[in-house]
Formats: sequence, C-alpha cells, structure tokens
Amino acid sequence: MIDSSANPASLAVERLAGDIVAVTITVPGHRQNVMTEAFLEELGQLLDSLERQPPRGLLLASGRPGSFLAGADIERIDRLWELPEAAVKGLCDRGRQLLARLSKAAWPSVAVIAGDCVGGGLELALACDLRVATDTRETRLAAPEVKLGLLPGWGGTVRLPRLIGPGPASELVVTGEPVTGPRALTLGLVDACVSPVAAVPTALQLLEWAIADGRHHQRRQRQTAAIPLDDAEREFLEATTAALILSRTGGHYPAPLMAIETMLRGCALPAAEAAVIESEAFARLARTAVARQLVRVFRLRQRNRRDSGLAAAAEESAAEPLAIAAPAVIGAGIMGAGIVARHLRSGFSTTLVDIEADALARAVPGILDEAAWDRQRGAADQERALKLAGRLLPATSLAAAATADLVIESVIERTDLKRRVLAEIEATVPASTIICTNTSTNPIATLAEPLTDPSRFCGMHFFNPVRRMMLVEVVRGPATSDATVATVVAHAKRLGKSPVVVQDSPGFLVNRVLSPYLHEAVELLREGIDPARIDRLSRRFGMPLGPLELYDMVGLDTAFYAGLVMASAFGDRIDASPLIPAFVKAGRLGRKTGRGFYRYRGVGHDARLETVDEALAGTLEPYRLPDRAATDREITDRLFLPMLLEALRVLDEGIVRDACDIDLAVIYALGFPAFRGGLLAWGDSLGAAEILRRLERFADLGPRMTPPASLSRSRSLLAP
Ligand code: NAD
Repeated sequence: MIDSSANPASLAVERLAGDIVAVTITVPGHRQNVMTEAFLEELGQLLDSLERQPPRGLLLASGRPGSFLAGADIERIDRLWELPEAAVKGLCDRGRQLLARLSKAAWPSVAVIAGDCVGGGLELALACDLRVATDTRETRLAAPEVKLGLLPGWGGTVRLPRLIGPGPASELVVTGEPVTGPRALTLGLVDACVSPVAAVPTALQLLEWAIADGRHHQRRQRQTAAIPLDDAEREFLEATTAALILSRTGGHYPAPLMAIETMLRGCALPAAEAAVIESEAFARLARTAVARQLVRVFRLRQRNRRDSGLAAAAEESAAEPLAIAAPAVIGAGIMGAGIVARHLRSGFSTTLVDIEADALARAVPGILDEAAWDRQRGAADQERALKLAGRLLPATSLAAAATADLVIESVIERTDLKRRVLAEIEATVPASTIICTNTSTNPIATLAEPLTDPSRFCGMHFFNPVRRMMLVEVVRGPATSDATVATVVAHAKRLGKSPVVVQDSPGFLVNRVLSPYLHEAVELLREGIDPARIDRLSRRFGMPLGPLELYDMVGLDTAFYAGLVMASAFGDRIDASPLIPAFVKAGRLGRKTGRGFYRYRGVGHDARLETVDEALAGTLEPYRLPDRAATDREITDRLFLPMLLEALRVLDEGIVRDACDIDLAVIYALGFPAFRGGLLAWGDSLGAAEILRRLERFADLGPRMTPPASLSRSRSLLAP
C-alpha cells in the first residue's frame, strides 16, 4: 500500500478481518505525534490508495502512548509569519481539503483517541465520522490555537459548532483549554468514552453499526449545512464571549475575538463558505506580531522542558540527575508551606520541620487543602487530603530530616540564622544529600561559607504564591557542582515548575530586573504622577498588576529589605528610595496592614482594593521632587526601559545563559506579557536605535537611564 522501505513511516496500515483498514499513527523523530510534512504526504497517499481500493471502514489510532495527534509541527507554524497572506491561506485550504477527503469518503471512519488530541489532531479526529476517547487522565482534547495567537485553520471552527453547538464550541475555541474524555462525551464531541482496553473493540462496533445503517450520512449532512442562529442567540453569544475575552486579555490578544467572530459568521453559511472565512482569518492572524511572539514563547517553554540546566559541554560528561525520593523542607512559613504542598501534589512523601510547633499546626491544614485542591470543583478533595496527610511528616526537630535526599531550607530571611541552619542540616543529613536554600536576597556564596561541602549546595528560589508561579530560579554558587544543578533542575520539573539556572548575583535574575521598575514607579510618584495612572499604564502595557499594586502585594517591609540589597550592590543606578522606609515607619506595609499606596477593605492577600489612600499625599510630601510632566508613553518607557537595560546588563555579566531564559523567567515570575514575547523580545521589537532615541529624553535622570555599551553594539537583542 505505502512504500515505507526508504524512510520510517508515520502511518502503519493493516487490513483487519471484515475489510476494515486500521491505521496507526507514530510520527518518527518526535516525542509526540505531530503533523509533519511527511505525515501529511503519507496521509494523502493513504487516501489515494483507499479511494482506489475502498475498504468497508477506517479506524485511526495512535501507536504512541499519551499522544493521539497534536497539530502542525511548531517549526512549521513558526515560519508562517514570513509567508504572504495568500500563501498561508493556501496552506489552510490544502490541509482542510486533505481532511475533507476523510469526511467525504465512501466508507465511514472512526478515531480512537488515547492521549493528547489537540489542534490539527483534533481537526483530523473531527473529520472522521465517529470518535471514541479513552477515560484516562492522559486523554485530553483541545483546540489550543488561540494560545499561539491563531485559530483552528483546518475546519475546526466549522465542524465544532455543527457537532456540539455554537456555545460549547465557542468555549473550546476561545479558551483553548483541554477537555477530558468523559467531558468530551458530555459535550457530544466523542461518541463513546471507555477504558483503554475497550477503545478499539468499541470503535469497531460503532463502525459496524454505521456501515450497517448508514447513520453517518445524516451527520455528514449536518456538517455541511448552515446552522443559522437567531439574532438573540448570536448577540448573546457574541456579547458574553467578547466580554469574557476582554476581561481576560485586556484587548491585547486578537485571536480569541477573531475566532468567535469567524465561528459565528460561519454558522450562518454552508460549511464550504464558512471554511473560506476561516482560512482568511487564520492567514490574517498568522502574520500578526502577537502570534509571532506567542509561538516564540511556546518554543521557549518547549526548550525549557528539555533543558538539563547545564552547558552543552558539561551535559555530555554529566551523570544522570539523582531521582529525589525523600525531600524535606525546613521552615513552615508562607513559602515552606507552599513548597511542601507542591511536593505532596506531585506525589512526594515530604518531611516538614519548623522549630515552632505552632507554626506547624498553623501550616498543616492549609498545606493539605492546597495539595488536594480540585480545580474543577473549586474546593479541596477531602478524601485526597486525608490520604495526603499520611505522606506529610511534620516535625520540630531537624533529626526528622536525617534520611532526606534533598533538603530545602526556607526559614526567615536572616543571614546569620540561615547560615546556622544550613550548617546544622549538613551535619544531620548523609553526604550525598542535596541542600538548597529558598533565600531571595542572600548570596549563595555567603550562605555556603559554613558548609564543609558547598558543591552539593545551591539556591532553589520559588516565587510567591508557589501554587501559581511557574518559575524556580536554580542559583549556582561558586562551588555548586554540575551534578547538583542537574538534580535540582530535574526535581523542579518533577514538581511541574519551570527552572531557569542563574549565577549567584544580588537579586539573582528576577528581583534584579524587577527592582529598577519598582524604583522608577516611586520616582514617578515623587514627581507628582498620580499613582492610579502609573498602575493603569503598566496594566495597559500588559502587566497583571501595576508596580504600586505589586509593592502593596509583596509588602513594603519586604520590598524595603530587598531594595537595600539591590542599592548596596548597584548603588550607582538603583538608590534605596527614602519613601519606602517612611512607609514602613508609618505602618503602611500594603495589603498585610490594609494600607500601602492604596487603601484596602480587610487585610491580607484577599483584601479588596478600595482606592488610592487619601493620606498618601501627606506621607509623600517630604520626599516630593520637582513636578515633571509626562505623557502616557513617557511614563510607560520610564517603567520598562530601565528594566530592559538591567536585563541587558544581566546578559552582559553572564548571569543567565541567554535572552530566552530572561524572557521565559519574566513571563513566569512577573507575568510580563507573553504577547510581547518577554522583556528582551519587546526590546528587540523596538530596536536598539529606537531605545537609544527614547532614552535620550531621560538622560537628565542619570545613570539609571544610561544604556550599557552592548546596546549600541547590538543589532538584535535576542542574539547570543
Ligand atoms: P515566614 O516568616 O513566613 O516563615 C519562616 C518560618 O521559619 C517560620 O515558621 C519560623 O518558625 C521558621 N523558622 C525560623 N527558624 C527556624 C529554624 N531554626 N528551624 C526551622 N524553622 C525555623 O517566611 P517566608 O515568607 O515563608 O520566607 C521563607 C524564605 O523564603 C525566606 O528566605 C524568604 O526570603 C524566601 N522567600 C520568600 C518569599 C515571599 O514572598 N514570602 C518569596 C520567595 C522567597
């Protein structure tokens, strides 16, 4: 049938009894099945041969565990923006026509969906007459194109609303979120959801029924006709979805809105005409800067997943990272509790040590709730919490960590205390145990001094709140070994986090680039700029919170301390602003005291922001600078350009490997807008000449606005 002698084939074809053709997808050279050029060619050839010699039915399944089929190869998607619109449209048309051959074939077809079925993979499954999903957690169906700034381009916006109705179809396409097999069955997206062993027999049974009574013909008819919505239905869907999209995206992401508009317009048309609209919309989106950046960020995430954290040369000689089996966390505060919950959630039995029994008693219920949290229910699964309780080993003595193979120190941020606790840990655990610190500000070199073997010690810096923040900075001290780095990187990934390796330096990476931004916000305030305006412009740029809101969230006392560390290291350009200690002295610590730059109803993380605090002007008065008028653009530049300059210095100093690590880190730790591709991608989109031009306007502000020499030299801010 297909000659697979020359190249390994993606499709294995077998004629089963009863003249059913079974096709198994295993795309070579990839970790998951993706639609490579070769795959599409083979699919075309397969359909040619089946059209010549029609079977009674076709069964499509995957030969790769955990992956039915994902969409187009990301490298192909990454090249779309370079093509003219007509060429992109041509690619959509070709793909859609290929899939249409399945849905128009003389025989019925069924897809057996086990593992991820996403993007183009879902569109292929939708082109089949029938679908059977397995009921395991591994099976997830999704149309995630909007996450890449795109929309389904091979008939997804046409087939989905005709199969499951416009409302549920909008939700799938607009959110890009996956659904499990059982949920897909409820939605009508699949015809059966069964255990993996029952999947193929069920699919064959459905196929036989379709062959016997031709029930798939009716469905095909529904798939090709228009499904007109009445005006009220259409307006309701448009308005509610648009409102949801705008609230979630701040209007920065064009794809979800265009997806809903395209789908709803397409509903009123015969499928063939709706498909043309879809291709046009896809082609327009594919060439936007937003899609280009989102695809790049997707690739950064992929790279991070494969990254060992070591330089290529070290990687070759490095031993396998140690698989951690018995972790321990020291300190049951906000961070320690979050780190333990993450461990329990990822399946680790975990020891938690705190000298205060009260601190343990306070922390444990929250840890279990967080570890057993059921996102769908919006509540902790009490049965699971009970099970996890048996895996949490709280103790007030370090001796409980004596058999740990990884210890994460997360006691209060006092250098002398940390040094003492780390030395005690080293004296308690075996010589092979990896020791980490979650310090935010202490140099790893300083904390390593009391250790006999600093090669097994490094920073493992989580961000607050641990459950939400994806980034972990793995901080390499001067003596940290490759083996330690590789093990901590691998462990962070097992916790579902994204580790980025950074060299020991004040503020590491994230707090270092954050501090000029926070500092500049305060300077703007001292120059008479309205605080709400500063925050609004930052959010308009795409940040989840403005800098003053962030101060209030972090706590002015914590920010004061971190500011001192940064000022003592980089005092030439980052002063410790006198305003922050004044706030601390006045007890205005932010959310934790109900007052900071803003006034809150209640205290703590969930306190409701009410308004700019009316007493702010009084506290500010002694520290006021001469008024300086500024346009919105100038305020935005003042906030983000110093951050960009600091990131360039971080690169120059070799604190991180490359620009990609910085971009990923700021997206994951600070919520820097992904549609801008990260801090350096944003800088790169401006270009060095434009950045220098904008900085001239602020030259009188001194060294903090002085670009490093590397900026004038660089043609691209992203080049190594
Ligand atoms: P926290 O004050 O909430 O908790 C610290 C805990 O350590 C307390 O429960 C205390 O009883 C315990 N402790 C003190 N001495 C101890 C000892 N000798 N042995 C065992 N336990 C001891 O502090 P936190 O906010 O959770 O911060 C912990 C660490 O994480 C600090 O190094 C901090 O810089 C870092 N960090 C904090 C944040 C944040 O936003 N809070 C973010 C990243 C990193």
